[in-house]
Amino acid sequence: MQENGLIRLKGASLDGTQAFPVQVEVNVKRGIPRFTITGLAATSIKESSDRIRVAIENSGFESPIANVLVHLGPANRKKQGTYLDLPIAVGLLHLTGQCPDPETGKNLLWLGELGLDGSVKPVRGILHILRQLEYGSYRAVVVPWENREEAALQTRLPVISIMHLKQLESVLTGKALFEPKTSVRIKSQQFPDSLEIYRDQMPGLRAVQISAAGWHHCLLSGPPGAGKSMLARLGYSLLPPLRESEALDLLSLRSLQEQIVDSEVSRPFRSPHHTTSDVALVGGSSSLRMGEVTLAGHGILFLDELAEFKPNHLQALREPMEEGYITVSRISGSVTYPSPFLLIGATNPCPCGFYQSSNDLCICKISKVQSYQSAITGPFLDRIEIFLHLGAGSKPNRERVKIDLVRLRESIRSASERQEKRLLTGTGKLYNGRLRGEEILMWIPLSSKAEELVSKAVRKKGLSIRKMLQLRKIARTIADLVGRDEIEERDLEEALVFLNSGWFPENRAAA
Ligand SMILES: [Zn+2]
Repeated sequence: MQENGLIRLKGASLDGTQAFPVQVEVNVKRGIPRFTITGLAATSIKESSDRIRVAIENSGFESPIANVLVHLGPANRKKQGTYLDLPIAVGLLHLTGQCPDPETGKNLLWLGELGLDGSVKPVRGILHILRQLEYGSYRAVVVPWENREEAALQTRLPVISIMHLKQLESVLTGKALFEPKTSVRIKSQQFPDSLEIYRDQMPGLRAVQISAAGWHHCLLSGPPGAGKSMLARLGYSLLPPLRESEALDLLSLRSLQEQIVDSEVSRPFRSPHHTTSDVALVGGSSSLRMGEVTLAGHGILFLDELAEFKPNHLQALREPMEEGYITVSRISGSVTYPSPFLLIGATNPCPCGFYQSSNDLCICKISKVQSYQSAITGPFLDRIEIFLHLGAGSKPNRERVKIDLVRLRESIRSASERQEKRLLTGTGKLYNGRLRGEEILMWIPLSSKAEELVSKAVRKKGLSIRKMLQLRKIARTIADLVGRDEIEERDLEEALVFLNSGWFPENRAAA
């Protein structure tokens, strides 16, 4: 048995939810038998030396009686999980002359845990890791047999599966290429075709339609019984069809939690209660737990009774509302999770719920109203793009109106396709609502007439730059809903109705 030499194989690991490539260097030389692993390896990896040795022996190979040094690079990044068992074992087997050359000209990525019997056991997060790595650097990936379908959900990198170390020979001679049978499946959901609502709920429906079509965070305020929750749930049923890239995002996250056996996904709808804990809402803790903001990704995060949520919870939502991800600081370091949710919030305008309502039954002192409303304020409120007060001002109109939901969904679907066509290549984004700063000016141009109208509104209403940009985005979505290329005056006028200008700005101006 040859027992000298050095080999480098390609593996990967996770730092929080961030996948990164790991170079596995295995060196074997004659000397006092020992097995050392260096390069910021977590305990689970350090413990792998005994496991790998026993797995090799139980597979009918010989374990080297030599000085084995395994170094995992880059040395400055902590590695966790058991993904690296397989490349370490393969390196050892090659250096001891027990398997063909696994590296030269092959360019394989190896991921897998070893059982004591030499079996290659499934690991979590395979799809997540594969989607985050640069595919160009590898020719194929070798994964545990049980992870093969999951690995093949990404379609760019060929997948080779391995069940047992004994199969290494056929893996390395190219006989084990796997032909996937599954692909991402978008769950078809059944929603009603029509719905009856009260005429005075129509603006609420329109707000939710615009919000769903362009991914604009939306807040509905109004008295009890105004239909806020009904509209929020309706908003879910109106969302554009899940794209394949979004479905893969959802499956990638699922792969971090469990082995994927069912590749069917749908947009999530999450509605955490206002008493929910910090960890449950934003995620974190030692076990990489995902919070509601992450679980709601590519779907709706519905926050009912928004004013009852803790101020620190609303503050924590600022980053994911704007960036689509959340960074959670914990003792063990910070972790970043994706969280591209659409927020729909509902709230009463005051403790009794009837402030400014059409039947004007509010019994709250004005100081109580102000302190209630101040719970939803500042940078959090700023990131809400659409804010509508249901049942405010005019007399209640309880006439029943039948809504054709099929047509409504169709308008949203085609609006979302228009956005994708316009934005995806240049920005990597799918929705108007996700554009930021300069992107908005670049991708939502206005005619000089429309610019003039915006300037007028900015002067008259004292809109901040942030609000001015939000106005542009909402108007763009309104035009997309009717398939118009150019934003017209009427689109901007309607956008002004729905643009979040805070709590009852008209009253404030009067006061
Ligand atoms: Zn009240």
